[in-house]
Amino acid sequence: MDRVHNFSAGPATLPLEVLKKAKSEFTEYQEMGRSVMEISHRSAEYTEIDHQAKSRLRDLLNLGTDFEIMFLQGGASSQFMMVPFNFLRDDQTADYIDTGRWSKKAIREAKIFGNVHRPFSSRESGYDSVPTDDELNLSEDPAYVHYTSNNTVAGTQFADEPETNGVPLVCDASSDFLAKPIDVSKYGLIYAGAQKNVGPAGVTIVIVRKDFLEQAITEDVPTILQYQTHAEKIFNTPPTYNVYMVNLVLEWIEEQGGLSYFEKFNKEKATLVYDEIDADDFYRGAVDKDSRSLMNATFRLPTEQLEQKFLGEAAEHNLLALKGHRSVGGIRASMYNACPRESVETLIQFMRDFRKNNG
Ligand code: PMP
Repeated sequence: MDRVHNFSAGPATLPLEVLKKAKSEFTEYQEMGRSVMEISHRSAEYTEIDHQAKSRLRDLLNLGTDFEIMFLQGGASSQFMMVPFNFLRDDQTADYIDTGRWSKKAIREAKIFGNVHRPFSSRESGYDSVPTDDELNLSEDPAYVHYTSNNTVAGTQFADEPETNGVPLVCDASSDFLAKPIDVSKYGLIYAGAQKNVGPAGVTIVIVRKDFLEQAITEDVPTILQYQTHAEKIFNTPPTYNVYMVNLVLEWIEEQGGLSYFEKFNKEKATLVYDEIDADDFYRGAVDKDSRSLMNATFRLPTEQLEQKFLGEAAEHNLLALKGHRSVGGIRASMYNACPRESVETLIQFMRDFRKNNG
């Protein structure tokens, strides 16, 4: 069977070239008579993989030497806890912009450690928007401002970093990491689970600015949960095969033309889908137009029965994983970097035909 058109929100489709390269090296890496999975994380070969991946991230994101990069485990969900454990003292307040299911989970964890202020929340309206800078009501002296750059479930995305007047941004970038260039100077810390845009599930990329890291709490934080521990060296066994896969994806991103290439490519794909949604009132975008995500396009059909029919017939056309998140329903087309234009074009044609037959 050929590969399907995979619109999974995550773990998501990976570049076929990367999978093929991994396949060719699966049982033997660099004439070692062993695979990457079977060598020490202290070996010269693995150290080289770790260095390559970090140096590619530095180049792609324009990170100076003032940033540390680490490959951790526990998913973005562990970062919800690790960020406040390291940076929120119990007499301090952190600002958390509340734009979706994942922001809400991050807020719940932060409250264990200190005070949380929400400078904006779209919760009452079903998380259908992200704020403009004018809508942000920041607290007096927050330890940091946390935001979710792309809201995977609702299908909203910040077009630019929120303005914090110099307060370090902490960003959950899980679902748009490396999908476009960003202004790294605004960030104290960026974290992203790999499984949407950069590799298989199992590794979380964390980037921390050194002067922000210097403010981290160290007393009463278990060693493995301190960022400083991981900044200094590879502390314990990392998910070595996942880092190897991430390195292959980063190489592929470079070969395609880097982050500006993907910014344009992702905009083109999303525009195709949103134009189709807006063509008439059969399909209905699920969120405010100004807040629409280029990664996850969410939309509704006139009835839930038609949505079920849409999903069933889409699957017959090899268009898979289009079902909206279980908490919101509807349709969600996730189109990260590795989603080919051809998959989006096939989806558009299917949407047109479905509307013609059911509208
Ligand atoms: N943040 C965002 C924006 C996500 O999309 C997800 C996963 N869907 C998470 C956090 C949670 O990630 P994990 O399952 O890796 O903990």
